[in-house]
Amino acid sequence: MSRSNGRWDARWYPSKAVKRWPALLRRPPRCGYCGRWAWELDSGLTADHKTPKAAGGSDKIKNIVLACKPCNQRKAARSVGQFVR
Ligand SMILES: [Zn+2]
Repeated sequence: MSRSNGRWDARWYPSKAVKRWPALLRRPPRCGYCGRWAWELDSGLTADHKTPKAAGGSDKIKNIVLACKPCNQRKAARSVGQFVR
């Protein structure tokens, strides 16, 4: 792990998400749900919408949380479940 100039190493972040929300690089590279750091994860971090877009969530960074894949998938499954009746 390395931190220079107050920024975390970009390789710990999902690159597509960083292109879209460069300010993610100012957040610590850890899962917002379980708190594991990017370097503790096999599959790295993903960007997740706190409020799913399908539920009216915005695409702004305020609604974005870094999440490991297992947490992201768990949450996705739950969100989908809410919409199935
Ligand atoms: Zn997690």
